[in-house]
Order: sequence, then C-alpha cells, then structure tokens
Amino acid sequence: MPGFINVPDAAHYWLTNGRVPLCLLDMDLSPLPALRAFPHQEELVAVDVEVCDGAIATIVPTGQAAVGDRPAVDLGEGLIWPCFVDMHTHLDKGHIWPRCPNPDGTFMGALDTVRKDHGNWQADELYHRMEFGLKCSYTHGTRGIRTHLDSFGPLGQTSFKVFDELRRQWRDRLILQAVCLVSLDYFLTPEAEPLAQLVAEFGGVLGGVAYMNDDIVLQLDQVFTLAKRYGLDLDFHTDESLDPEDITLRYVAEAALRHDFQGAITCGHCCSLSVQSPEVVEQTLTLVKAANIGIVSLPMCNLYLQDRQPEHTPRYRGVTILHELHQRGIPVALASDNCRDPFYAYGDHDGLDVFKQSVRIGHLDRPFTHWPQSVTSRPAQLMGLENLGVLKPAAPADLICFKARTLNELVARAQCDRIVLRQGTQIDTTLPDYRELDPWVQ
Ligand SMILES: [Zn+2]
Repeated sequence: MPGFINVPDAAHYWLTNGRVPLCLLDMDLSPLPALRAFPHQEELVAVDVEVCDGAIATIVPTGQAAVGDRPAVDLGEGLIWPCFVDMHTHLDKGHIWPRCPNPDGTFMGALDTVRKDHGNWQADELYHRMEFGLKCSYTHGTRGIRTHLDSFGPLGQTSFKVFDELRRQWRDRLILQAVCLVSLDYFLTPEAEPLAQLVAEFGGVLGGVAYMNDDIVLQLDQVFTLAKRYGLDLDFHTDESLDPEDITLRYVAEAALRHDFQGAITCGHCCSLSVQSPEVVEQTLTLVKAANIGIVSLPMCNLYLQDRQPEHTPRYRGVTILHELHQRGIPVALASDNCRDPFYAYGDHDGLDVFKQSVRIGHLDRPFTHWPQSVTSRPAQLMGLENLGVLKPAAPADLICFKARTLNELVARAQCDRIVLRQGTQIDTTLPDYRELDPWVQ
C-alpha cells in the first residue's frame, strides 16, 4: 500500500508525535499548549491520538500517551487532519471531457456542451461516471459529499434514482447529499411541484441556478414556498459571472427574510461580489448575514471559466470575497465543483487540492488561522453533519495523516503519500484508473 507509514492493523492503538491545526480541534484545549517552541507554527499543536474501536478515544499532548503494550506509530511530527467534506460537486457531469470538451473554455460553451451531452446520460452510464468520482474522493480522504444533479424533465428521475443507488452502495464509506439543478424559471412551470416532490422523496435539497431576469423575485418566491411545503433545505448557484449588475445573492437573502425561512441555505460562487462597489457589497452582505446564508466558493472552476476571452490573458479571476465574507461572520466553505467536464477540465475530487489552490488564489495563509475549517468542519455544519470535519474524543477516527509537518510543507507538495484512516483502519489509497471510464466516455 502506498504511504509514508503503516498504521497498525489493530482495534486499539496510538498515533504519536503528530501535529494538528488548532482550528480543527473541537475540545477543551487547556491541556494542549500551542506549539510555540516551533517558530511560526503557532497554529499547530503537538498531540498523541488514541484510536479505539474506530473512534478517537483521547487526544493528549505529545509525550503523554499512555501507550502501555498497545501498538503505536510515530508520525514524525506529521499533520493529522479530519477527513474532508466536499459540499459542492457535480458528480453527474464528471469525466465527460474525453467525449465532449468545452469548445472555447467559456461558461456558455460549457452550458451548451453539457446540454447536448444529456442524451448520453443513461442510468448505467451515469452510475459508472458518478462512482468513479466517489472512488477518487474517498481515496483522497473525503467523508461527505454534496452533489448537484441536472434535473430538467425526465433526467431528474433518472439522476436521483442513480444517486440513491450509489448512496446505498457507499453508505458505509461516504455520506452523500443531492441537490436538484435547474434554472429558476423552471419553478414557474407546472414541473416545479413534481420536482420538489422528487427531491423530498429522495431526501434531497432544493436548488437551482439563479440568473438575473424580470421574474427572479417570483421564481424565488416559488422556490421558498415549495421548500417550506416539503421541509427542504436550499442550495443555489448565484452570480457565477463578472457582471457587477448580477445581484441574485441579494435576492435570495431578501426572499429568505420575506419567507422567514428556517431551513439551511447555501449559495455557491457569488463571483460578482468581487467586481462590485463597496456600497453594493455592504448592502448584500448585511442581508446575507441577516438571512443566515452560508457561502461556498469554487475557486478552481471560477479560475477556469471567468474572464475567458479568445487570445486574452484573464485579469479578473472570479473568486468571491472570501476574507470579507468571513469577517462579517458569514460561514465560507471551499469545494471542488466540476471535475473533468466542460465547466472545469481538470480536478480529481481532492479536498486537499481545493485547499491548496484556494490558499494560493485567495491569500488564505498569512496566517492560515481558521481556513483549514473551510474544507472540513464548516461544510459539515452547512450540510447539517454532526461530528464530521473535526478532531475530538468520540468522533470517528476518519483521519488523514500527512508526512508534511507544517501547513507550509502541506501546501507546497502534492501529498500523494498521505495515509487515510476510516474508522481507524488504513484504506488503500490507489486512485482509480482513467481506463475504467473508457467504455463510457469515448
Ligand atoms: Zn456548481
């Protein structure tokens, strides 16, 4: 098995001499002094972790493990993270790139290409591509995934059924959530109520893409009415553009307040905030905060699509205002979004890749402080998943151990030799072979 250490094949053992980001510990920190002896690493603490029967039993300062005759593995000061939570993906679009690449790399090019490909999305074809994505994600150390599913017409039924079967097959390994994806004008058609019923039937989340148009308020009213009627949470794509006039995020917040909506609301992308005046941003953020909306940013996809023009070097990169949102007390998660499809040609369903790229793109590193939460505990909270994405006694021992000793070493290298533990047991981290997909995407 690849990896820099071998974890004992035992029900009860210790991981000693590890380091964890302070922000990922959800416990009484008084016995865990920050690692101040190490210059510039004040965001880490040195710990020994006891694993018993698939869960974290105790976390103590390094050197205080009561190992006794239990097996122990020395992490050599390597980092321990909880498993990732990837809260915005499109597993149904994943890996279609070989048969339908984006002709010009633009958002419209992606939209048209995927629409033309919908005819290929038969149940078994969808199942294999979606499962390939799950295999990558699981292998990289992810525990929970939310995927959007294109849901126009009969495709909605097909996609939710395939998703449900995968959720059943993978229930011991991954927690999966699904959101329906249609443009919001769909909610003013007779198909709206059956769609909400479909989502409710499969325990999903109601969602869609909000575009600026004359009916946006009516459309959102209908979405919120249906969400309340069927007891559904909400997840929107908002303002995935660099047009400063795009303010659908604000319309969502106003609708939430108007409907006194008590469920969870997430809005993804919010790119246009990056090109709006401070006054416009301020008005929107005040409403977003009041409406208790969580934001998920998808930096890799934004970099790929935003400000793309022929023979032009992109100046604006489309990533939303991560720091400013956080400073306003609005929860900000980071996620992978599309993977090897016309909306994003690359990616590998890797939470660490999302974190590393976002750190560089968004300057999330001087200091890193809370940002490791954006791919772990914060998406877990926004998805309503208890005990995920944190390190604490009694939490499942779903952990990633890195050879990297510092966040600098972590972000600098690929970390292909990471160790993934699921319920305390080391899993095989060999990634699936693209050749598996050949029968489905060529
Ligand atoms: Zn998306």
